[in-house]
Amino acid sequence: MLLDSVYQTAAMPAERRFSANCDKIVTMSEKVHITGLKRAELEELAASFGEPKYRATQVFKAVHGRRLTSFDEITDLPKKFRAKLQETAEISSLTVESRYVSVDGTRRYLMKTADGYPVETVYIPSESRDTICFSSQSGCPLKCDFCLTAKLGLLRNLTPGEIVEQVIIVLNDVYGVGAETPHGTNLVGMGAGEPFLNFENLITALEIMSDEDGLFIVPNRVTVSTAGIVPKIYEFAQLENRPHLAISLSSAKDELRDTLMPINKRWDLGELMSAAKEFEGSLRRGERFTFEYVMLGGVNDADNDANDLADLLERFQLKRVKINLIPHNGAEQLDYNTSTPERVDRFKWVLESRGVSAYVRQPRGRDIYAACGQLAAKTVGSRQ
Ligand code: SF4
Repeated sequence: MLLDSVYQTAAMPAERRFSANCDKIVTMSEKVHITGLKRAELEELAASFGEPKYRATQVFKAVHGRRLTSFDEITDLPKKFRAKLQETAEISSLTVESRYVSVDGTRRYLMKTADGYPVETVYIPSESRDTICFSSQSGCPLKCDFCLTAKLGLLRNLTPGEIVEQVIIVLNDVYGVGAETPHGTNLVGMGAGEPFLNFENLITALEIMSDEDGLFIVPNRVTVSTAGIVPKIYEFAQLENRPHLAISLSSAKDELRDTLMPINKRWDLGELMSAAKEFEGSLRRGERFTFEYVMLGGVNDADNDANDLADLLERFQLKRVKINLIPHNGAEQLDYNTSTPERVDRFKWVLESRGVSAYVRQPRGRDIYAACGQLAAKTVGSRQ
């Protein structure tokens, strides 16, 4: 499929249908997926049952603050209202198919939407703070050559409720239903899919998750990663209270990037860097943004490649950036090797000697295929 038509298809809001009163996001069972409703939409729903505004707040607090998963548990609601909700709405639409726990504590969840599409989420614990890596699409339309999810193609965009519910499921698994969401949980939109091709649903989900009566995961704790959907980078820069941005680069040369990340044929490095420059102008005090660089042994990890990257940043006068070096995790289905630790260190050194901040991301959950580029390993493997 041409990238333009992929872009248009994927940018369409997923699973939106209209009820008599207002438009609601409904699941395949035709019930409203209440987890994906903003406060105002929830108030509208309560009003349609003749209930006052504060009932919507009670429901919101129960679903997002206490992370309850059935209406039966919301015992502070009148029975009649609960029955109405049960009839017309649902809290949970995803089911967890499998859960893998790595030796390093990383957990990988394979979930399924109500209409049968795979969703993957990863929980990465650390001493200082936990990180939840969520998916924005089932599969992905972009064809990054080093990524297993690419092999699935785009199955469909996830709804706001399906994005929020991934986080709720992980928190409930790790901390238990009703336990307070730990302060400082980080979210990264780096799971399956290209978040900027599901922009509207992503922003709605992030707005819901930032509510202080709910999960209270504020934008400052969220990073969204794009493969380079240039128009959306401009749009993202304009957002008030936006999350942090990471741009996946993986090469500073158009010729190689065309092969590694074919989205480059639609928006090349010149266009991408111009958008990044504009985004740099929107940074808050002390904020930087990230370029991710997947390191592929013998492909993009030579000293020349590091110098090309430093040259590119210089050419566009990008200063408030850091480079995250991500050693490729390898997978049988992909023809790439991992860069050696010595190569990764040397690459980092070359960048730093040119005045560029560079960090190496330690791979997590490799043994359970939860690491970067490995999501969908089981799905793809079983398909093949
Ligand atoms: S790396 Fe990200 S954008 Fe590229 S194919 Fe994989 S999931 Fe999609």
